[in-house]
Amino acid sequence: MGRVKQDFVFHRDFKKEYPIITHGEGVYLFDDTGKKFLDACSGAVAANLGHGIASIGDAMAEQAKKAAFVHTMRFETKALHELAEKIGIMAPGYLNKVYFTTGGSEANESAMKLARQYHRDAGRPQKHIVIGRWQSYHGNTIGSLSAGGDVKRRHAYTPNLLNYAHVYSPYCHRCPYGREQDDCLTKQNWTCVADIERTILELGPENVSAFIAEAIVGSQQGAVPPPPGYFEKIRELCDRYQIILILDEVMTGFGRTGTHFATEQLGIEPDIITFGKGVSAGYAPLAGMIVHERLIDGLIQNSDGKFIHGYTYSGHPVAVAAGLAALEVYESDNVLENVNEQGNYLVGLLLELKQKHTCISDVRGRGLLIGIELVKDREQDLLFKPSEKAAETINSIAMELGAVFYPGTGSIDSINGEHLIISPPLNVKKTDIDEIVRILDESLSIFKSQLRKDETVEIAK
Ligand code: PMP
Repeated sequence: MGRVKQDFVFHRDFKKEYPIITHGEGVYLFDDTGKKFLDACSGAVAANLGHGIASIGDAMAEQAKKAAFVHTMRFETKALHELAEKIGIMAPGYLNKVYFTTGGSEANESAMKLARQYHRDAGRPQKHIVIGRWQSYHGNTIGSLSAGGDVKRRHAYTPNLLNYAHVYSPYCHRCPYGREQDDCLTKQNWTCVADIERTILELGPENVSAFIAEAIVGSQQGAVPPPPGYFEKIRELCDRYQIILILDEVMTGFGRTGTHFATEQLGIEPDIITFGKGVSAGYAPLAGMIVHERLIDGLIQNSDGKFIHGYTYSGHPVAVAAGLAALEVYESDNVLENVNEQGNYLVGLLLELKQKHTCISDVRGRGLLIGIELVKDREQDLLFKPSEKAAETINSIAMELGAVFYPGTGSIDSINGEHLIISPPLNVKKTDIDEIVRILDESLSIFKSQLRKDETVEIAK
């Protein structure tokens, strides 16, 4: 029953063909036919410094030559201490202890398990339920998928998922509760927050262990920041009911939104921040969590100093060396300043593009994590059908033209809602932003004319 043995890769999609990338340079990737792609989404909002940075590659090679692997059950390395210190100092308030994993899914698993163990050992053994939010993404392992709220990703595994609860996130552009943002802000009675309290009370606060949320909703909604004051209210609820607040900064951490962590813009201190992607600028699989001293005190007092968890590759020396070298480049290249400058410039151009294309219904985000919501017609508020695959098709057109974006679907209710994320490397130049917007503009025009042709054929049938 064999097939011809000629391609051994388990592809993401067996019906698609993928360009073979031979190398990258700055914001560009090059394939084996010589075609170049402007990486307008940093891969998956991970390659945050672009490609081909020799100092990061050299640091990894140096570490590999010294000690490629030690097991953190028995040994640590200087690089591990140095990177933990840098991140701990960068993180807000009492978030001081840094735990490393290899990916964001594992980081969120670790955070949810730590919350559970912390409560159990402090004499609150019933606390085990995590509350997550619909249209949020926390990873693809069973625990992280259970906390996330993307129905498309969840439904194949629904019988395997943990019994976690979900509430709606505040997508004020199309409030799931039908409220107007100004009304919520002036009256200070937020239905989305009241719904969280109702959920906690219904589950029984004695059963709720953690609340997890993306600081700014990334891949599932397309860069949606929270309304001002939202997380302060969440913090109050978590304090009232002894719930660990986990902020997922896997996508937003390390300067992506214009500050080291997006948390700094939210006016609160979570109990755990999870991170990934940008920490090594994509040069090595590295992620983790930054933990509040309060939880560490709990571990020391109630758990004999041990978190019952761990991965073989936690704190892998070569990955950690990549992280250290990447953070040095963020600093030496003054990346934060560039994010704010280029982010503002990009948003300005996108707002102009919105005037031209009635298929753009919203431009949002922070720093260089920018999203556009796509609709069939803004004036009539006509949505694309999911089968039209608008975001994916526009991105395919853009790839033909030489730029790659991060398309997503289901931003409104997990089924409807199309968006593109524009998140170039944080050291992007103004001329690159011009090129990104030029290609996006052309892609939208081509897509619209294709759509018109299809509709004419449909009517003619
Ligand atoms: N959380 C968020 C907010 C993410 O964007 C992602 C990845 N897109 C993850 C978690 C999962 O990270 P990973 O794919 O590295 O496991």
